[in-house]
Amino acid sequence: MSETPDVNRILRPGVIRTPIRELPDELISQIAAGEVVERPASVVRELLDNAIDAGATQVVVRLLAGGVRSIVVEDNGLGINREQLALALRRHATSKIASLHDLEQVSTMGFRGEALAAINAVAELELLSRAGSSADAFALDGRSGEIRPVARDVGTTVQVRELFFSTPARRKFLKSDATELAHCLEAVRRHGLAHPEVEWAVWHDGKLVNHWRRSTLAQRIQEVLGDGFLSQSVEVLHSAGPLSIRGFAGTPDAARSRADQQYMYVNGRFVRDKVLSHAVRSAYADVLHGARHPSYVLFLELPSTRVDVNVHPTKIEVRFRDSREVHQAMVHALGNALAKSRTSDAATPVTNRPGAQPPWLQPDPNAAGPSFGWAAQELPLGRHRVSDIQVLWNDRGTVGIGGSSGGSIERPQETVTVSRLGAEPAVIHHPLGQALAQLHGVYILAQNQQGLLIVDMHAAHERIVYERLKRQLEQHDLHSQPLLVPASFAATPEEMACAESHTQSLCALGLELTALSSGTLVVRAVPASLSGGDPVALARATLAELSEHESSDVIRRAQHELLSTMACHGAVRANRRLTLDEMNALLRQMEVTERSDQCNHGRPTWRQVTLRELDNWFMRGR
Ligand code: ADP
Ligand code: MG
Repeated sequence: MSETPDVNRILRPGVIRTPIRELPDELISQIAAGEVVERPASVVRELLDNAIDAGATQVVVRLLAGGVRSIVVEDNGLGINREQLALALRRHATSKIASLHDLEQVSTMGFRGEALAAINAVAELELLSRAGSSADAFALDGRSGEIRPVARDVGTTVQVRELFFSTPARRKFLKSDATELAHCLEAVRRHGLAHPEVEWAVWHDGKLVNHWRRSTLAQRIQEVLGDGFLSQSVEVLHSAGPLSIRGFAGTPDAARSRADQQYMYVNGRFVRDKVLSHAVRSAYADVLHGARHPSYVLFLELPSTRVDVNVHPTKIEVRFRDSREVHQAMVHALGNALAKSRTSDAATPVTNRPGAQPPWLQPDPNAAGPSFGWAAQELPLGRHRVSDIQVLWNDRGTVGIGGSSGGSIERPQETVTVSRLGAEPAVIHHPLGQALAQLHGVYILAQNQQGLLIVDMHAAHERIVYERLKRQLEQHDLHSQPLLVPASFAATPEEMACAESHTQSLCALGLELTALSSGTLVVRAVPASLSGGDPVALARATLAELSEHESSDVIRRAQHELLSTMACHGAVRANRRLTLDEMNALLRQMEVTERSDQCNHGRPTWRQVTLRELDNWFMRGR
C-alpha cells in the first residue's frame, strides 16, 4: 500500500518477542525487595523502625560478618499475636494504616507493609514474638511458613540470615564485611540519636560494640558522636507556628572536612532533604569557610499533614507542603542559635559561670585544678567562642578602631577606662583580655585570665565592620558620608556600565559613584563606617561583585555578600601599626559583636593558648 518501509519491523539484533505473562509471586517479591533492601544496613534500619513503632524501650542488635551472615534484632515492644505472624510477612500487610486518610497523617516509621516481605524474599527470615496479651511465644519460619512454640518474653525478635543467598548477583554488590558493618552501625546511630529514651546495644561477632543506656538527648549525642560534638555546638530551640526545631548545631570552628556528622530528622525520621540542607547551608554561609561541613543533630517536628513521607520507598526523602515555611524556620532556628553562641551567656556574671555551664562542659570535680578563680573552668582545647569567657558586658562607649580611644566600659561593680590599660593588664578581666603587642603587623597578642590570646586583626575587624554594616542596612541606617576630596579613577567599560545601571543599588549601600568622563568614575561618598578605607578599592570591589548579579532581586538577596566585600575593604589592613589603645578597642568591639569568632569568610579570628598549655610546653609542674 505504501512505499515507505515498515520501520517497526527493523529490529535491533537479538530482540525476540516473548509472550506477556504474570510473574510468580516470589519473583515479584524479589523485584520489589530491590527497592527496600540494598545491603545489611537497610535491613537493620527497617527492623529498628519496626521496634520503635512497637514502642520498644530496649533494642538489641546482633550482627555476624558485617550483617551479611546474620542480623538479629530483639525488642521488648508490644509483640505480634500467633494468628498475625504470617500476615506480618505478607506484602502490603501492615497494622499501621488502613485508609488513604491514615496515609495522610502517618505518625509511625513504617506504613507500607513491605519491609518484612522484602527481607523474607532475599534472606532466610525467622520471626519470633510474644504479644503482650499472650502467655506464649511463637516462631514463624519465613520459608516454610511453619509455626512452633518458643520461649520468649513479650516482644519480638527478627532473625535474618544469609542476605541475598538466593540472588548471588546482588550479593556480589556487597562490600567488605567491615564496610557493611560501618553502614549498619551508622543505621543504629541514626536511630540511637532520635531515641535517647530507648536503650540500645549492638553486638558484632560476639563483641559488644555499642551500648547506650536511656538518657537525655545531650547525653546520647555525647555517647554516640563523642565529647567533641557537644562541647563545640550550640543548642537549637525554635518554634514557628506549627513547626518546631530542636537539637544541637556545631560551631563553625568545629566544622569538618567531611559531611559525616549531619543528622536531620523530620518527625523522628532521619531524612536527606534538599530544602533542609539548603537552609542549613544558608544559615552557616555567613560564618563557615566554603569547603567545610557543619555538624548537627536537628529535629524538625511539624503536623503530619504538612509533610508527605510517602515519596520514597525507603522514606529517606520527604516532601513538604510548604517548603518555604520549612526553609525559613530552619534558617532562623540556626541563625539565632549560631549568633547567640557568643552573646547569650553575656548576662551571666563571672561567678555564676560554672553552674551556668551545661553539664558536658563542667570540669571533672575530682580533678585538681589551678586555684585562680573561674579561669580554673578549663575549656576544651580548640574551641574558641567569646561567650565561653564572656562576662557581663555593657559597652556604652562606641569605640572606633581608628578613632578616639578611651571608650568607657561599665561593669556591674566597677568602671574601667580603656585608655589607662596596658600598665597593669592582669587587673582587668575582659574576656579577650588586654593587648600586649602587635606581631608582624598581622596579629594582636593579648593577655587574659586563661593565658595568651592571639587575634588576627584584619579578620576580626572585618567581621566587626560587616556586622555593623548589616545592622545599619537592616535598620535603614546605612548613612553615606561625602568625601572631602572625591576620588576619581580610570574605569573599565564594564565598570562604567555597571556603575550606571546599578546607581540605585549602590546608593542603598551608601556608595555614591558618578561618571566624570567616558572613562573616569568618581567616588563622592562612601558608607560612614568605611570612611577610613580606600574609596577607590572599595568602589572597584563593589562594582566587581555587583556585575555578577543581574536583576535587582538577586542583588537584594546578595546584599550580605556585597556588604561582606565592602567590609573586607573597610577593615584595617595588615601591616598597619596599631597603638595599644586601638588594639584594646578592637578587642572590646569583638566582645560585643555577633559572630565575631569567625571572619566573613569563616576563618577563625582568634585563638587562645591557655596557661596550662604554656606550662605544658615548658614542663612547668603546678
Ligand atoms: P510496616 O512497618 O510498614 O507496617 P513491615 O513489613 O515492616 O511493614 O511490618 C509488617 C507488620 O508487622 C507491621 O505493621 C507490624 O504490625 C508487624 N511488626 C513488624 N515488626 C514488629 C515488631 N518488632 N514488633 C511488633 N510488630 C511488628
Ligand atoms: Mg516496618
